[in-house]
Amino acid sequence: MKRVIILGSTGSIGTQTLNVISRNLSNFKVVGLSCNSNIELLNAQREKYGVEFACCKCLPDKDKGIFATESELIGAVKYDILVAASGGVDSLDAVVTSLLNGKAVCIANKELLVCAGEHVMAASHKGRLIPVDSEHSAIYQCLQGESEIDSVTLTCSGGALRNMPIEKLSDATVEDVLKHPNWVMGKKITVDCATMMNKAFEVIEAMCLFGLPKEKVHVVMHKESLVHGYVTFKDGSIKALISPPNMELPIAYALNYPNRIENINFDLSGKTLTFTEPDIERYPLFKLVLDNLDKPLFPSFIAGVDEIVVDHFLKGFISYGEMHKIINRAVLMYDKVYESNANSYSPIGLYECGRKVVKKLLRI
Ligand code: MG
Repeated sequence: MKRVIILGSTGSIGTQTLNVISRNLSNFKVVGLSCNSNIELLNAQREKYGVEFACCKCLPDKDKGIFATESELIGAVKYDILVAASGGVDSLDAVVTSLLNGKAVCIANKELLVCAGEHVMAASHKGRLIPVDSEHSAIYQCLQGESEIDSVTLTCSGGALRNMPIEKLSDATVEDVLKHPNWVMGKKITVDCATMMNKAFEVIEAMCLFGLPKEKVHVVMHKESLVHGYVTFKDGSIKALISPPNMELPIAYALNYPNRIENINFDLSGKTLTFTEPDIERYPLFKLVLDNLDKPLFPSFIAGVDEIVVDHFLKGFISYGEMHKIINRAVLMYDKVYESNANSYSPIGLYECGRKVVKKLLRI
């Protein structure tokens, strides 16, 4: 019986992790849950799974076993697996501490790897870090028992606006953007899929998880979302991971690693698989991030910028087109921002700085 803590249990990945666990209660016991503010759902989850301790950043209540920080939660509970599924960078300490204590960490939190990948990877040697992001889970699975790698390729569905005429993109509404053709995910990541900012973050994630330079991480458009990623080996052979677009599969793999549990049946017959080059004109933010990737700490900065801008778009304050313009303006300011503060900056500092710079641009 593995004891599991889920950070971000009320979000999309958190609730799907609980679905996987509820079908495998003889293998797993939930011993800790955390959320940002959705205390009602958190309490319902605690009751359903009999969880004594939790963390709610906005509404802590020690008498009821609800801590204010995830670090307190992991310090109070005996566990084997930490599922890191909260957004932002607040769970960095909990993730690093868990790894240093030899725990298995199933990582679904993109910002942590984008902003503080080196830090997380340095700690990962003591524990085990298993990616939950579907593309990275695919690569991780393809790499089992392999070492002669040439490159890795992440697939990309193109997001909700992939068929919208380019001249209409700037007026796309929140509703348009949230209609992802293949995946059911949280709102922020669904917007990032439409702009392909998500794929730029995933390139950074892959560089960090698999220790590869940017040139060895490729992206192809694959509208069926059945191949999630593939590895090209030195002899030119390709190994790909194929499964339906369902996050419960990579979650179950990460929880059970190195074993597999019974899951959905899937048949490839009658399916068509297509692969094409990304259309840079449709996804300018993808190119923008990759072009600036060699600048020190740029990933942290852009992760902070994107978080604020996407939130502003989701609230209806700016249009899809304005979202692109603001991100472009923030990126143009990066060299100056970095130079004037270089000595005192850490990855998390640059993430905060990205948030601050763009809040000024948005006057919030
Ligand atoms: Mg992904």
